[in-house]
Amino acid sequence: MSLIPLYGKTRTELAELVIAEGLPKFSATQIADWLYRKDVDSIDQMSNLSKKVREQLSEKYTLGLIAPDQVSESTDGTKKYLFPTGNNKFVEAAYIPESDRATLCVSSQAGCKMGCLFCMTGKQGFQGQLTSGEILNQLRSIPEFRNVTNIVYMGMGEPFDNLDSVLKSTEILTSDWGMGWSPKRITVSSVGLIPALRKFMEQSNCHLAISLHTPFEEERKMLMPIQNVYPIADVVAEIRKVFKGGQRRVSFEYIMFDGINDTPKHVKEMAKLLSGLECRVNLIRFHTIPDSPLRGTSDAKMLEFRDALTSKGIFTTIRSSRGQDIQAACGLLSTKALIEKNNLLFFSHKFFTNIV
Ligand code: SF4
Repeated sequence: MSLIPLYGKTRTELAELVIAEGLPKFSATQIADWLYRKDVDSIDQMSNLSKKVREQLSEKYTLGLIAPDQVSESTDGTKKYLFPTGNNKFVEAAYIPESDRATLCVSSQAGCKMGCLFCMTGKQGFQGQLTSGEILNQLRSIPEFRNVTNIVYMGMGEPFDNLDSVLKSTEILTSDWGMGWSPKRITVSSVGLIPALRKFMEQSNCHLAISLHTPFEEERKMLMPIQNVYPIADVVAEIRKVFKGGQRRVSFEYIMFDGINDTPKHVKEMAKLLSGLECRVNLIRFHTIPDSPLRGTSDAKMLEFRDALTSKGIFTTIRSSRGQDIQAACGLLSTKALIEKNNLLFFSHKFFTNIV
């Protein structure tokens, strides 16, 4: 019988578990404390549980921590970690140190179903959902674990297509009984799956980032098939309805493609779409991916675009590009080569590392 992972379980799930094991209810809080605050590496280290209880738990459970298989390091200090996640699934996480902070970009799925034209993960197809434990393991099992100040759910996969696991992981990150992080240190990115967006806004205080990339319907359909199901105008209308302001930040990600979405008419339409909404726009350099006709906008033109949006009253920044030499930059995360090497099947297609 394979052992059940404890890492990634919420306190409610741990409470159910201890009751099922005939243990006192407070053991759930003790186990959560060992898992998420004291960072033990084994059940045996949970020293305020009796030896008998630890032995009983060890017969059925394990922590479920998995070390990365590989790490690549960029000349700029960015590191890309490759994690096995069970059933021959692999995901990547990117650790991006800066002067006063360190951001970890985590994956929420192995591969992705969304098929965005500009994304390497999109090209590799969907291999499976990650559990909350597999998402958090990308943080817990890297050597820089204690240095990480911010987490962005912008790695492989569409977080809102695996919302329950994502919400469980953010609950563990932000709860008093869990890691106790401020939700202001966490950003979840999505193409805008509206029902999940609604649930996320109700159940989480973490920042939201929406992949926008163009305000024009036909163009967005070409870049992002999800536009056929959830048009960006509807996504923005939904955000206007449910976003109450306060500490939460809403941002829009905008990868810039030369000659496609970087014209004055795009500035005008963006200003119309986002008019009056408390938000920011992050402009992202496009890193060319194999077999794609898309090219990135020049730095000079990106500056012009930023200034034009700013002059329309939209707070706009250009995101610095990191880890390009190790394929950890925006749009480049993919485990496709590994999947091919291992003769695995893949079913449909993205990814991009956005550094907030
Ligand atoms: S950009 Fe994001 S949502 Fe689109 S295919 Fe890549 S991983 Fe999926």
